Parts: sequence; structure tokens; C-alpha cells
Amino acid sequence: MKGKVKIYFEDKGYGFLITDSGDDLFFHVSDFCHHHSKINKDVKVLFDTEKTKKGLAAKDIRLPDTNSDPRIDCPHCQKKIRPNPRYRNGLLIGSICPFCLEFVKKVDFSKEREAYHNALFWLAMAVLFFLIGALCVRFW
Ligand SMILES: [Zn+2]
Repeated sequence: MKGKVKIYFEDKGYGFLITDSGDDLFFHVSDFCHHHSKINKDVKVLFDTEKTKKGLAAKDIRLPDTNSDPRIDCPHCQKKIRPNPRYRNGLLIGSICPFCLEFVKKVDFSKEREAYHNALFWLAMAVLFFLIGALCVRFW
């Protein structure tokens, strides 16, 4: 089901969602799949419902935006996979898809780490060229 956060009592750890059809649904913070800092009024959510003793309640509440989904699409079998970084010589080379066992390049969450390794590589190259240059000047 779709809806949004109507109210959340942070100190009490629960609140209410309002469904797209206008019904109020109780939810507890433990039914929220993301960090509770994302529970704010009017935040759009997806959820399932569950019958409890006190009536219908929301469970498995998640944010609909894809940015919060850490999974990536496997380009070989089109399945959603969780990135499992693989390294060669300290450089990130990608992930292995657990479904088709194909190699998946480009892992979104690794961009920063890759940039860091690239920076280290170029720094090492710069030092190397500087040393070669210094040696050449000395023996000229
Ligand atoms: Zn695959």
C-alpha cells in the first residue's frame, strides 16, 4: 500500500500513517525499514498491513525512492543484486552477481572509494616521475 506519514511521536517510537484512501494506520518505529531519522511528517512511504489486537497496523514500511535502495541491476540477468565489492590489487573491479555469477562492473556505492584509489595511483605516479626527473638531472 501507499501512503504518507501523518504524525510521528519520536519520544514514544510510534505514529500514524495516512493511506492514499484516507485511512489512519498505526505504526511502530521497529516496522520502519530505514533509519528513523527519515520518519518525518508527509514523507511518502510504501508498506504492508497487519491485523493486530488493536486493529490494522502498518508493517515493513519503506521509502519509495530508489536512492534508498542499495541494490543494483545486474546487466546480464536483469535481477536486483546487492553489491558485493571485489578487489584486485587494491582496486575495486566490481561485483559478482549471485544469480548468474556474471561479473558486474560499476558499483554505485563504490564511486568514492574508486576515486580515492585513483587519487593514490596518480599521487604515486607523480612521486615516481619526480624521482626519475631528479635522478636524470643529477646524472646529466
Ligand atoms: Zn546476473
